[in-house]
Amino acid sequence: MQRSVLKNYAKLLARKGLNVQKGQDVVISAEIEQEEFVLMVAEECYRAGARRVFPEWTYQPLAKLNAELRSLEQLSRVTPWEEEEQRRQTQTLPARLYITSEDPDGMQGVDPEKYAAARRARSAVLKPYRDARENKEQWCIAAAAGADWAKKVFPREKSAARAVERLWRAIIDASRANGNPVANWTEHDKDLADRCAFLNGLGLASLEYESAGGTKLTVGLMREGLFAAGEESTLSGIPFNPNIPSEEVFTTPKRGEAEGIVYSTKPLSYQGQLIRNFSVRFEGGRAVEVHASQGEAALKKMIAMDEGAAYLGECALVPYDSPIRNSKVLFYNTLFDENAACHLALGRGFFNCVRDFEKYSDEELKRLGVNDSMIHVDFMIGCEDLSVTGVTATGARIPLFRDGNWAFDTKGKD
Ligand code: ZN
Repeated sequence: MQRSVLKNYAKLLARKGLNVQKGQDVVISAEIEQEEFVLMVAEECYRAGARRVFPEWTYQPLAKLNAELRSLEQLSRVTPWEEEEQRRQTQTLPARLYITSEDPDGMQGVDPEKYAAARRARSAVLKPYRDARENKEQWCIAAAAGADWAKKVFPREKSAARAVERLWRAIIDASRANGNPVANWTEHDKDLADRCAFLNGLGLASLEYESAGGTKLTVGLMREGLFAAGEESTLSGIPFNPNIPSEEVFTTPKRGEAEGIVYSTKPLSYQGQLIRNFSVRFEGGRAVEVHASQGEAALKKMIAMDEGAAYLGECALVPYDSPIRNSKVLFYNTLFDENAACHLALGRGFFNCVRDFEKYSDEELKRLGVNDSMIHVDFMIGCEDLSVTGVTATGARIPLFRDGNWAFDTKGKD
């Protein structure tokens, strides 16, 4: 990939993704093979005024080895220095960039039960620190082309280098990072904000999903709920883009109100394991029955991670005609595939999808209906013939999606 293109993309992540502030620390989490790209991003963060950039290097084959060979007790451990670092970060509030590039299947073979138990134990210790930073720090998840990931996406390419080149191309296109990426995102964020304003003016009480594939699901919405998209702001008012790319308009549904069945339309990569062709049936808001042609055990583990893991945390609307789906590339990575299709998420909801959420305590927000869990896992349900109807508190039915695409227009005319 051309250096100038990558540099512009790095600038996009520093300026629009994180929006690094003068004197702010930055934490960049990335696989070791991304050292060149991390260097470019670090430079852009310093140009934006960063005080110090901390890399957090990861290496998936070593993570796999750890998961296989360390005891459950060892794997569950949070060291005092890790905890101290987390505590420090709740005070310094660094901007946090996650660069994803790992093999979506790279953890295959790891005992899902052991892995989940260790994660649960670590999360119990670390969650208070994460909660203390929530909505206070800018963060962004974006991608870089990793060699093993590229081979999975383009298996017929003879050389790894060719596959990596094609994956970079796909990432840049999907991320609207051609030409002047910063300007592209200013415009894109405006479009998404207009859609949210329209939806938030309707006073919706529920969403009804239906498709020929068998999906027939009703999901309740909170009266105080809000649709959000693209750019977000920290509580102190710093705008940032948590996902690059991002095409979705999403909200947090009301816990306890989901009835019916939904069918996945794309495989789900969960903790390095692929789950294919699955369905989830909901009763009283809770996932009570799941089936999958592959990875059913991992799916069952997932919804049993904790009490909230079987409840919905997100409803996201993405037109079937999105730039990512039109690229016809199946990325096997949620960041991209979730922006190619309408999706739901099991697990934690978003406090900031409640109107004036900062006025409520966490407990009050949960009582209003925001689900809580240590997991938040998106799965794709969008397809060519998906229809989504919004139903208002007074029973009016408003078509939001027809044949997989937006059924309303916010541009120019009315
Ligand atoms: Zn989403």
